[in-house]
Amino acid sequence: MSRLGQLTETEWDVVVVGGGNAALCAAIEAAERGCRVVILEGAPETYRGGNSRHTRNFRCMHSGPLSVLTDSYGENEYFDDLIRVTKGQTDEGLARLAIRTSEECLPWMEAHGVRFQPSLSGTLSLSRTNAFFLGGGKALVNAYYITAEDLGVTIAYEAQVTHVEVSGGRFDAVQVEIGGERLRVRGKAVVLASGGFQSDIDWLARAWGESARNFLIRGTPYNRGVVLKDMLDQGAESVGDPTQCHAVAIDGRAPQYDGGIVTRLDCVPFSVVVNRDGQRFYDEGEDVWPKRYAIWGRLVAAQPDQVGYAIIDSRSIDLFMPSVYPPIEADTIEGLAEALGLPPAAVRETIDAFNAACREGPFTPTELDGLATEGLDPPKTNWARPIVEPPFYGYSLRPGVTFTYLGLKVDHEARVTGPEGRYHNIWAAGEIMAGSILGQGYLAGFGMTIGTVFGRLAGQGAAAHVAA
Ligand SMILES: Cc1cc2nc3c(=O)[nH]c(=O)nc-3n(C[C@H](O)[C@H](O)[C@H](O)COP(=O)(O)OP(=O)(O)OC[C@H]3O[C@@H](n4cnc5c(N)ncnc54)[C@H](O)[C@@H]3O)c2cc1C
Repeated sequence: MSRLGQLTETEWDVVVVGGGNAALCAAIEAAERGCRVVILEGAPETYRGGNSRHTRNFRCMHSGPLSVLTDSYGENEYFDDLIRVTKGQTDEGLARLAIRTSEECLPWMEAHGVRFQPSLSGTLSLSRTNAFFLGGGKALVNAYYITAEDLGVTIAYEAQVTHVEVSGGRFDAVQVEIGGERLRVRGKAVVLASGGFQSDIDWLARAWGESARNFLIRGTPYNRGVVLKDMLDQGAESVGDPTQCHAVAIDGRAPQYDGGIVTRLDCVPFSVVVNRDGQRFYDEGEDVWPKRYAIWGRLVAAQPDQVGYAIIDSRSIDLFMPSVYPPIEADTIEGLAEALGLPPAAVRETIDAFNAACREGPFTPTELDGLATEGLDPPKTNWARPIVEPPFYGYSLRPGVTFTYLGLKVDHEARVTGPEGRYHNIWAAGEIMAGSILGQGYLAGFGMTIGTVFGRLAGQGAAAHVAA
């Protein structure tokens, strides 16, 4: 039988839509329970693995040292960290489920080919809370693909799912385009793990306004929300606000899509950040960077032309993980401003006012040092050291969207809820349902936790449904 024939003529036990972390966890769980599983991955094989291939770590609860994780990180501390960043916009039951289950996920991941490494010391020093993947997300994704293939999972690449056929609350089949052909793939259960909608810039612009056309997308161009929209159009219950997303400030020279982690800029705490007009607009030293990096995408998005510029001097150049692009360099502030396309006089005035507001005191880059400006608005509350030592360096900043939060509402079994209660045989995992837990804000490493926990639950649930 031809490959396409096999796809359409088989009645699959579990059809998995998407080919990132959540999809793979679901596929592996279902296959281990004896199901015939197909993964429909929209991307070509080289780009398989969606945003998951860009990741570095996942956040994991643990009651004592676990693999590479040091000390302990309990449920309540983890939950408090989540509440702080989401400002309470979370579903406590689902959040605690994700947190609690994360502890058993780490050994499960190791048993399925993922290798961990101790965290690097850097601006996001997270050795207690976050387990880092050896080889990054790409190695994790590759390990899961190998495991899935060994378990007999069939994988179709460049398989864009366009429609989920649902009647009477029951999934029957998905419609999928492969190589210009439209096919129908039938199954007894489906797991939707096709990510958010951030790569559909028109959709972003409808939610955010035209300024969204200046946003860069840090991850895969394939997460365009086609399946999410299709399900919402059919009455699936939605969660999350379309304007909420995880967005960080990234190097303004990054490509429109897929720039990944290396374009993130961690220099803000040691910088003065100005807008297009050379004006400061926010406290660059408000808190330690892991607690602040996720707000800077939105801050820059609110500035004219959605750009910002971070300016440092030679004393700070080695204090942060550099972007993949070298900084713009000049011997004078005016020269730097000119090279960045900023009004030199305005930038000079801003830097002079900032320098004049700095006071004496110990500068400690690795912790909150309380070295704050005096009489400056907005203030800089930590690491406020004058910018005086040439050469001066500058980076342009633009909002880099990681993923959107509008998603499908799920229950504690990862089952999707429709107009008449939960669907009979539809599960969702990962970014497509993350808004169920992340109403706003973001906790580093929690995206992979959500995908792993709910992907596994979805695979287990779908398999149990097939067996029943
Ligand atoms: C640069 C970057 C760094 C990150 N770092 C971290 C980190 O260190 N830790 C962390 O926890 N999170 C991190 N995240 C967030 C994390 O990537 C996501 O939360 C997580 O990968 C989501 O997993 P997923 O399986 O839901 O989505 P994805 O991994 O994005 O997978 C979605 C899949 O669906 C496929 N797809 C989309 N539409 C269709 C369709 N219509 N038909 C078929 N297939 C389709 C895509 O091709 C893709 O394979 C990072 C994100 C980025 C962009």
